[in-house]
Amino acid sequence: MLDSLRSIVQEVNTADHLQSVLDITVARVQDTMGTEVCSIYLRESTQGRYVFSATEGLNKEFVGKISMAPTEGLVGQVAAREEPLNLENAESHPQFLFMPGIGEERYSAFLGVPIIHQRNVLGVLVIQQQTRRRFDEDDEAFLVTVSAQLAGVIAHAQATGLLVALDDSGERQGSARFRGVAGAPGIAIGHAIVVAPTADLNSVPMRRSKDIQDELDFFHECLEAVREDIKALGRKLATRLAKEERALFDVYLSMLADDALAAEVDVHILQGEWAQGALSKVILKHVRTFEMMEDAYLKERATDVKDLGRRVLSYLQAANSGPVDYPERTVLVGEELTASMLGEVPPENLVGLISVRGSSNSHVAILARSMGIPTVMGAVDLPYTQIEGSEIILDGYNGHVYFNPSAELQHRFQTIYEEELQFSKELEALKDEPCVTTDDYRLPLWVNTGLQADIARSLDRGAEGVGLFRTEVPFLLRERFPSEEEQRKIYRDQLEAFAPMPVTMRTLDVGGDKSLPYFPIEEDNPFLGWRGIRVTLDHPEIFLVQVRAMMKANAGLGNLRIMLPMISSVPELEEALELIYRAHDELVEELDFELELPLIGVMVEVPAAVYQARQFAKRVGFLSVGSNDLTQYLLAVDRNNARVADIYQTFHPAVLQALQHVVNDGHAEGRKVSICGELAGEPGAAVLLMAMGYDVLSMNATTLPKVKSVIRNISMKKAKEMLAHVMTLENAAEIREYMEQSIQESSSQRLAKAMMVDSAH
Ligand code: PEP
Ligand code: MG
Repeated sequence: MLDSLRSIVQEVNTADHLQSVLDITVARVQDTMGTEVCSIYLRESTQGRYVFSATEGLNKEFVGKISMAPTEGLVGQVAAREEPLNLENAESHPQFLFMPGIGEERYSAFLGVPIIHQRNVLGVLVIQQQTRRRFDEDDEAFLVTVSAQLAGVIAHAQATGLLVALDDSGERQGSARFRGVAGAPGIAIGHAIVVAPTADLNSVPMRRSKDIQDELDFFHECLEAVREDIKALGRKLATRLAKEERALFDVYLSMLADDALAAEVDVHILQGEWAQGALSKVILKHVRTFEMMEDAYLKERATDVKDLGRRVLSYLQAANSGPVDYPERTVLVGEELTASMLGEVPPENLVGLISVRGSSNSHVAILARSMGIPTVMGAVDLPYTQIEGSEIILDGYNGHVYFNPSAELQHRFQTIYEEELQFSKELEALKDEPCVTTDDYRLPLWVNTGLQADIARSLDRGAEGVGLFRTEVPFLLRERFPSEEEQRKIYRDQLEAFAPMPVTMRTLDVGGDKSLPYFPIEEDNPFLGWRGIRVTLDHPEIFLVQVRAMMKANAGLGNLRIMLPMISSVPELEEALELIYRAHDELVEELDFELELPLIGVMVEVPAAVYQARQFAKRVGFLSVGSNDLTQYLLAVDRNNARVADIYQTFHPAVLQALQHVVNDGHAEGRKVSICGELAGEPGAAVLLMAMGYDVLSMNATTLPKVKSVIRNISMKKAKEMLAHVMTLENAAEIREYMEQSIQESSSQRLAKAMMVDSAH
């Protein structure tokens, strides 16, 4: 059964448009299950009717022509109940709807299963048979499995089909909306520029070529270069390989001949596609075909075709690798955007980001928020390779992407964009005002930094210190570990810019979703693996150089604080402290002058640390909660996975309890406790954290003025009442709603309006 399932899914994956996905599915399911009929009814988007969309066994002439209302017939029943319906005699069921013409009347036995993608019913998959019988449990289980596997493929094909249809219509008759996860707030209206990792056949954007003949010549040049490489490789290995193995190189060369795969690529190039797109289409099609073969030898050829395809693609990409032309109002789109990809776009041209993978607490989203670039993460159904150059609107508040927006939609979003711009200008006036409640409670607001550009942005917005300098960001933008002197300069810039305000530098926190290109960490469970302090304790040479550079940079300034990430036990903390003391002693000896030992703190970001906060506090100068990780580990929800974004709940009662626990324990040891996770930048959460007793809130510079405005409009007394009430509530959605409502009531009208846009997600 598993083999049949795999082969159905693989075959469906070879289809290049929705109708063939459906046709292949019904044909293969009918054949594999040995039934007389297999059909698919797909839900259309306007009225939610179920359209008879593909069949094997019923009258094909009616495909696309008849449909039933959402609650009509057995199909409607399956869809509404979202569960299989297995009937021996369909006609006797009260919901049965006779549809003349399609030829259903002969079939008694009926088994229908819903096709569900991301909680949405896309349609219904049905098998039928003449003999009166109930399909057995195996049939039911198999059909459910097929349907679950195909749902994603159908959703993707629907999305791609929609884009192609809109493109072909030429008249911009409608727009398509894709849902993702809100990554960074704001509206962007611009043009999609797709970035692809090198030599990845699956993520090549589709573009038109500039000149067909040039493109053809270029493709054949690259092909010839690969042929030469293969010949050279064959010669090099000639003495070490058996005769049959050497013959493989001839097979490769024949595949690369001008009249083989290349001829198919030529056809696409002649139709105006650029060589990379044409190549990836042809190669992927053949790879899928080979993968579907029964014969093990032929199946293996899929690997060869893919390898050859990648080699040609590398040549095509290398020749095209000059600086990409990023036009004004670029919306950068990619399967998995990284910090270095952002770095390549001139900042004045970058208006938005869309990442197909990742979620709102992925590090790229955090960077985007600190840079104030509207971002949508986890747009998993967006056929991103097809949207190069298209006009799009990105709604970073709600996590939506609009393709080919209508004039009316553009106007609507342009208005929101202008209102936001105006509002942030108004907030600028708060820059030099203190963050103080209406009953005179003073709450310091610090910033999180990483990029060089964060310095100016933070000072502009009136930051009173740095609560988290993510030192890994400058590490990410390089091709090797920065030397001690390079690091000293980077740290000195930060310390000098903010002096005498405190700057909290976190020691290197790589692993998880932050992997250095020159120090890759590949693990099955990266967030539970070699991360943060675990890496640097295993590599004291990296850790010592870093803390030496920090302390040297602090000479004569004295505003450095060092913070340790991902500490989960006392011995780990003591080991790290020993190393810092050692580095300090060595430096004092080396430099021959008194060098102050900076204040050292621990990040509380794993559940174990919550319950050891007191033991940690005894040993260090301060605690700082990393709520991004603490939330993911407490709730067991990957911060980087869009599929579970809905249950990454920052206002979860368990998270709030943990936050209160940490601040109480830190204070019991007389230590200051701050928070530097993204939570501090959410106005509602900021109020609660203040009421819990947090001494400092550290957030990205973009949200700082908004938080300041909220705190300045509320009293500590009121904040404490809100906290007391929230602590009695039992679910995150209820808490969020209560906080949003209370804050809107206490804020200025302007802010309340802005917050309503913010909280629309
Ligand atoms: C956190 O985990 O909350 C934190 C501030 O660190 P990072 O987001 O860099 O993991
Ligand atoms: Mg963290």
